[in-house]
Amino acid sequence: MFNRSRLNLAYWFALSMGSILIVFTGVIYTFEAEDRLRAFDDDLYATVKGAENRAYYRPEQGDWLLDIEKGSTLIGKNALPPQNELVYLRWYGIDGRLVQFVGLTPNRRQVLTSKKRFQTIHIDTFAASAGSENQVLRQLTAPIKYNNRIVGYLQAATPLDPLQTDLNRLLVVLTLSVPVTLGVIGLTGWILGGVAMQPIRQSYDRLQRFTADASHELRSPLAAILSNAQVALIPNIQASSQADCVKEIETAAKAMSELIDDLLFLARHDGPIAGAALNERISVRELLTPLVDYGAAHAFRRNRKFIHDIQPHIAMVKANPQLLRRALTNLLDNAFKYTKDSGVVQLRLQVQTHHVLIQVEDDGVGIPEADLPHIFDRFYRVDAARSRHTGGFGLGLSIAQQVIHAHGGQITATSAVGQGSTFHVQLPLQK
Ligand code: ADP
Repeated sequence: MFNRSRLNLAYWFALSMGSILIVFTGVIYTFEAEDRLRAFDDDLYATVKGAENRAYYRPEQGDWLLDIEKGSTLIGKNALPPQNELVYLRWYGIDGRLVQFVGLTPNRRQVLTSKKRFQTIHIDTFAASAGSENQVLRQLTAPIKYNNRIVGYLQAATPLDPLQTDLNRLLVVLTLSVPVTLGVIGLTGWILGGVAMQPIRQSYDRLQRFTADASHELRSPLAAILSNAQVALIPNIQASSQADCVKEIETAAKAMSELIDDLLFLARHDGPIAGAALNERISVRELLTPLVDYGAAHAFRRNRKFIHDIQPHIAMVKANPQLLRRALTNLLDNAFKYTKDSGVVQLRLQVQTHHVLIQVEDDGVGIPEADLPHIFDRFYRVDAARSRHTGGFGLGLSIAQQVIHAHGGQITATSAVGQGSTFHVQLPLQK
């Protein structure tokens, strides 16, 4: 399921990025082609300007005279200006009639057909070696002015092949780079998909484990209810045995109800607690007073010693008092649960610069070092047999941690086997 989603993610990522890439490549090519053509035209224009200086207009005669010094070589050998690669250079009169030309001989219609400045044209050339071939030329037709009056036109053409070869090469490079880049994008999409899927996968795994653990935990009391109900229903069973069975059923049902309460609590308060529910500013002393009473009553009932050290501070915290008390009650319950007869349980408060530190300490059985990192995991019990005997499902500490994290606080534990455990709760102080 995750791999398919990851593949889909990579596919859509590659498709969208690929489309952008193709459009982008097209735009780059178009701009580059335009740019190069402009540079090409500029060169052609510069050449034509140079050629313009080789001919003189004779206003009296209304014709052209080529500069003998500079131009004789052009006419005599029918050659083109040496510094360029012009295919032809033609001078036209104002009426469009051809006056002079150098280079390729014009065909029958020796008149100026188009006055368009720059034009791409196709001509058929004939070379003895290559035969007839179609050549693409860039042609410039520039008006020539005399006394601010157009007196004729100068036309020149140069082969477009070098530019076309250049552009074709660019096109090949771009075309080849598109699939390569697409491959890289696809791979990136696959990797990013994996990274994006990671938290979803983890929470899915957690949810699956949670559901499996919850079902497993519910199965034991359910089995107890079923078996006791079957025994109680045996005909002619003694009234006392029947009462025992019903008692067992009641105990199992209570355990189930407790477990379901805890599960619902965890589900309801998963993630940060909404702003409104956390808005109450409460003094820590006020928060802890009911817990002191609770601890004292518990100690009396269970034959433990309860010590509390809560100085009259005016430290304030932003909290949901019910939830925080529930978390701290879980810690106190554990301290009493995992302490032997006449053991000592302590509740302490320290106010630090930015935090308040609440500590719940006992001198009970302690927690092995290897288990310490896991005790806040849901359904984790250090010793399943011991906890079942004491009635825990391994949810008390995860509830406490969830609540304290939701308050922006931290909970940690230190412990030594046989000597006892201390749970440290840090909550941000409200100035
Ligand atoms: P439980 O309901 O089983 O007590 P918790 O989540 O409250 O579940 O605690 C998880 C486990 O951590 C317990 O099963 C117990 O083994 C261990 N534990 C918690 N608090 C203490 C403590 N004060 N002393 C010793 N062990 C503790």
